Amino acid sequence: MDIHEYQAKALLHEFGMPIPKGGIAYSPEQATYRAMELGGEKWVVKAQIHSGARGKAGGVKVCASENEVMDAASAMLGRRLVTNQTGPGGKLVGRLYIEEATDIEREIYVAFVLDRAAERIVCVASAAGGMDIEEIADTEPDSIIRVEIEPAVGMQDFQAREIAFALGLGAAQLAEAVKALKACYRAFRDLDATMVEVNPMVVTKDGRILALDAKMGFDDNALFRRPQISELRDKSQEDPREMNAADRGLSYVGLDGNIGCIINGAGLAMATMDMIKHVGGEPANFLDIGGGASPERVAKAISLVLSDRGVSAILVNIFAGINRCDWVAEGVIQAMQKLDVPVPVVVRLSGTNVELGRQILADSDVRLETADTLAEAAEKAVEAAAAHEATLTG
Ligand code: GDP
Ligand code: MN
Repeated sequence: MDIHEYQAKALLHEFGMPIPKGGIAYSPEQATYRAMELGGEKWVVKAQIHSGARGKAGGVKVCASENEVMDAASAMLGRRLVTNQTGPGGKLVGRLYIEEATDIEREIYVAFVLDRAAERIVCVASAAGGMDIEEIADTEPDSIIRVEIEPAVGMQDFQAREIAFALGLGAAQLAEAVKALKACYRAFRDLDATMVEVNPMVVTKDGRILALDAKMGFDDNALFRRPQISELRDKSQEDPREMNAADRGLSYVGLDGNIGCIINGAGLAMATMDMIKHVGGEPANFLDIGGGASPERVAKAISLVLSDRGVSAILVNIFAGINRCDWVAEGVIQAMQKLDVPVPVVVRLSGTNVELGRQILADSDVRLETADTLAEAAEKAVEAAAAHEATLTG
């Protein structure tokens, strides 16, 4: 799960990271009110969306008067901001963060991520922070600082100092930099984060360290024990298809093709996707129905897959291990009888009781195609989708 910049800043601040003063606004009037409240002469209006690279997309504006704050806020609120990370649909700007502007001396990049191979949290930093960090990582990979943290003892002061020196920070910033780096590390560890990124962390003209931007992601599987993090969820930033599925206890991955896939297990999803692509098709989505395949569950899955308007055929590919193919077959038939399914459905079953399952499908009078192998199923689904689309346009 991702959260907004202002939420990440508040969390990091609790762990000792210095941040500029700021406030949240839901309307242009509120934005100017916030600016007045903050005082000073310059403010930054920042679109709160779950994406970076807002600066280059018009989502970060430094303003020198209340009128400018009002105009910037009006221009951003209610629009969809398209960045190079959001995809063409962009993300809806529903709230703004208004901050006192900072006079920047230097922009630094700092992140904490999990290195799965090393089984360690690793701090990644660069003296060239700001908006072009991806480029730096490509062109000057050796300039990136990388320090692994020993889980038994956590981040040590000497490690934080080492990073600060490598970043070229002077004696004046050392103590503050150590505090800032350790704050990020502790927030990462104590809140079950999967990433903490501060880009830029700045040295101000008057020599202070501040987090000017912050991004945090969290481990979904640990949210049950972090209710204060779960509360920060902003559903307007998530794919509505994936959210609907999660609310029903199913996991859904939205893609851009035209074949809706109902499968059980992530491995089977990958294999199914590869096969569909191999025979020239594109999946529209994947719905993982997990261990059970009761008629209710299959019906829910089919209606969710159909709520995606791009779907022209459905491929049900189930490998029954704990499950049984005859139950899955019954589930599919009952779901098809209950729902009015407007697109062709191809079913491929494999595993426990497969003969019985296929027999049940063959004996039923619901309209569906069956296949014995995954390759055959994918081919049939691609053909059926094309045929269905031809009937719609023809
Ligand atoms: P991002 O583009 O989504 O990563 O948004 P950031 O919050 O990182 O802002 C983008 C850029 O705007 C930063 O790298 C800074 O150069 C600039 N910026 C943000 N806040 C301030 C500020 O208070 N003062 C000044 N001068 N520039 C700022
Ligand atoms: Mn940034």
